[in-house]
Amino acid sequence: MSKVSIVWLRRNLRLADNKSFAAALRNADKVLPIFIFDTTILKRFQNPYDRRLSFLANTLCLVNEQLQKLAGKLCVFHGTPLEIIPKLVKLLKIQAIYADQDYEPANIERDRKIQNLLADQCILHLYCDHLLIKPDIILTKYNEPYKVYTPYMQAFRTHIVNQGTLAQNRLLTAYTYQLEGRLFIPPPLDAQSIDLSLGEAAMLQQVGYLYTKDALWDPKNAHHVLNSFFKTKIDHYKANRDFLHFNGTSICSPYLRFGLISIRSCYRKALALASNLGATTWVNELIWREFYTYILYHFPNTVNQAFQEKYRGTIPWNSKQEDYDKFIHAQTGYPIVDAAIKQLLLEGWMHNRARMIVASFFTKNLLLDWRKGENFFAQYLMDYELASNVGGWQWSSSCGTDAQPYFRIFNPYLQGKKFDPDAQYVKKYLPSLQTIPADVIHNVDFHKFYPHYPNPMVDYGLSRVRAIETFKKAGQ
Ligand SMILES: Cc1cc2nc3c(=O)[nH]c(=O)nc-3n(C[C@H](O)[C@H](O)[C@H](O)COP(=O)(O)OP(=O)(O)OC[C@H]3O[C@@H](n4cnc5c(N)ncnc54)[C@H](O)[C@@H]3O)c2cc1C
Repeated sequence: MSKVSIVWLRRNLRLADNKSFAAALRNADKVLPIFIFDTTILKRFQNPYDRRLSFLANTLCLVNEQLQKLAGKLCVFHGTPLEIIPKLVKLLKIQAIYADQDYEPANIERDRKIQNLLADQCILHLYCDHLLIKPDIILTKYNEPYKVYTPYMQAFRTHIVNQGTLAQNRLLTAYTYQLEGRLFIPPPLDAQSIDLSLGEAAMLQQVGYLYTKDALWDPKNAHHVLNSFFKTKIDHYKANRDFLHFNGTSICSPYLRFGLISIRSCYRKALALASNLGATTWVNELIWREFYTYILYHFPNTVNQAFQEKYRGTIPWNSKQEDYDKFIHAQTGYPIVDAAIKQLLLEGWMHNRARMIVASFFTKNLLLDWRKGENFFAQYLMDYELASNVGGWQWSSSCGTDAQPYFRIFNPYLQGKKFDPDAQYVKKYLPSLQTIPADVIHNVDFHKFYPHYPNPMVDYGLSRVRAIETFKKAGQ
């Protein structure tokens, strides 16, 4: 009987340049690709129309189509991996499972439990596939994790060059072409399996959600988005990336999140441009992504605790529900903040500069707990990544690793003047301000000129002083 192995797709929902497929093809005769709608994860999705699940359903159907062309199929299940994986292993006499390694604390624990359950009957082989470098590799000369971005970034770049990581990984792509004839089609499985043949909507219904067509986010566009960024935007990335209305960034974060594009292909493309300033700056952003995953891996308590000990339990956060509600309903009275929230609600994405502006406003001017802000973003971001989101919120609230100092508080009016000079971004998301001149929109006395707009919920100057005093006292 030929040896069958499972490829368990989790974060890397693609066939090409996928370490798990490559390893399975090296070691087994036949490969069975699976995906599990994990009920413990689904519990976090409260909105039955959550667009991330429709995107996921589209992605799974796309992967299934690609597998069908190679005479295989994707097997999808609904339940907990802890019940499903051992059942499959027993039923199909599986000796090896290949999957991409996940560094979130809860997922590390899940994988550990699964391996314990399987004992030595079957090995769960994990590969670092959504990061370029495994988080336990880059350490300081004292063998400790870096806590500051710049020295980490320098060590990271040196490591990549010295280890030839990218050259080795080039070989991975070739493996995909060997899938044909090596895919295993199992006999009909139990009730926990999900039928993909009826399409995205029927599939989602089987796991309790409703499908919505999304004109904005389509997994089929993943490579096009990345390629067109390299064709038209990368040369000016450094100059344009902060302008809110420009679309000067790649906007590939949701595709990276679901692993539709491989992180290695991003690096390879950027490194091919060698000394291009835009490409160097962009790679630094990719390294921020690695850095935040690295920090969460080494300091798992930061998932809901400030990285900086002095800010743990010492900040008297504002608990007024009314303030939180005004913020999440884009009623702060600050057009740039409200426009950013609208962008998030409408598109499931927010420009990085806008994320920094709203997170600073939330945690400093409103003195609302960064964890509440993190949770709000988690409900809407298409690119939601626990590590990057926690990292971004802790950075903005000055309590994270390498965070901005507590006395640096973004002035929303000045940020607007600088990064949305013609107020195009504000007007796009707040069309009622279409006819108002930009210098009025970004003016501290905006509400005096335009009384129809909600009053600012806090005075910028006073709330700034309050934040500085609060953080100063907390840090003593
Ligand atoms: C408060 C806050 C919350 C954030 N939450 C998330 C999140 O949940 N998921 C997420 O992917 N990013 C998050 N970011 C980082 C950043 O805003 C987004 O990655 C970026 O806006 C995505 O747009 P892009 O693909 O056009 O980025 P580009 O500028 O084209 O950058 C390329 C890629 O690098 C990565 N990247 C860029 N900037 C950062 C960064 N500061 N930290 C980590 N990775 C980065 C992303 O994967 C991005 O797709 C957050 C930032 C802040 C300030």
